[in-house]
Amino acid sequence: MVPGLVVLATDSDEVQAVVALCHELGVPFVARGSGTGLSGGALPHSEGVLVVLSQMRRILDVDPVAQRAVVQPGVINLDVTAAAKPHGYYYAPDPSSQQICSIGGNVAENSGGAHCLEYGFTTNHVLSVELVAPDGSRTRLGTTAPDAPGYDLLGTVIGSEGTLGVVTEATLKLTQGTAERDDPSALQVTAAGQAGLDPALMAAANSSGGVLGKMVSPQNLAIAAAAVGMTGREGDLFRKVVGWSLGFLALMCLLVLGQTTVLAWMLP
Ligand SMILES: Cc1cc2nc3c(=O)[nH]c(=O)nc-3n(C[C@H](O)[C@H](O)[C@H](O)COP(=O)(O)OP(=O)(O)OC[C@H]3O[C@@H](n4cnc5c(N)ncnc54)[C@H](O)[C@@H]3O)c2cc1C
Repeated sequence: MVPGLVVLATDSDEVQAVVALCHELGVPFVARGSGTGLSGGALPHSEGVLVVLSQMRRILDVDPVAQRAVVQPGVINLDVTAAAKPHGYYYAPDPSSQQICSIGGNVAENSGGAHCLEYGFTTNHVLSVELVAPDGSRTRLGTTAPDAPGYDLLGTVIGSEGTLGVVTEATLKLTQGTAERDDPSALQVTAAGQAGLDPALMAAANSSGGVLGKMVSPQNLAIAAAAVGMTGREGDLFRKVVGWSLGFLALMCLLVLGQTTVLAWMLP
């Protein structure tokens, strides 16, 4: 579908001006980030305006003390983590398309990935947004406080597939640590903590070819707990029991392996 007109917006004022004009003239408009959405929400209208946000790609602020980043909507998901990494933080929502999809698209789709099993979806990591409503008015929803008072209008916008307005800025919550996908050693340390494992047991599990160590990753344990319908405290207990059992198994494997090696060395 070819749009009637394409606008490559570079700031919030331009988005507001275009949307206000569309409202005045009764012309439909569609917001577009990187165009990876699978539900087709960014498909243009042949008689309408396609408001492309990919030029609005500036990270406006990274505040490690407040654990926040303020970004324009066209910022690529993985670029938030890249900007936060030197401060010891990352942005947890990690859709598989994170190398290309935009924060605006993530907000509109409430996107998520493997980390979200443990840390929640986009809706749990957006503190506030600046929004240009379909009538061209500009408003800010949410606050930088952990829990905003009043109606959760921000929650209504997140996941609304661009139907409630165009997000022109987002304040994101940063998570302390490293995106585990990037750093296998961080995965193991986190896994030990999450599964409540003794680091020595964890080291044993890792030295058994790394296979058992990978099995007790927080993601896998969370998936396993969810698969058997265990959540909350039940899920925690499940993760601990499975984590300990696998760690114990790894230790036994090491002992048997060690004994076999010693016997093979002693016997002629
Ligand atoms: C290979 C691949 C893997 C994927 N993996 C995942 C995954 O693991 N998890 C997941 O959740 N999704 C996944 N997706 C889907 C998609 O990447 C996400 O939904 C992503 O959030 C879309 O972002 P985008 O910038 O491409 O948005 P677009 O496709 O451009 O737009 C998506 C929707 O958001 C609206 N929108 C875009 N920008 C704004 C804005 N600034 N303000 C208001 N509305 C806006 C559009 O109007 C449209 O309705 C995957 C897609 C692909 C192609």
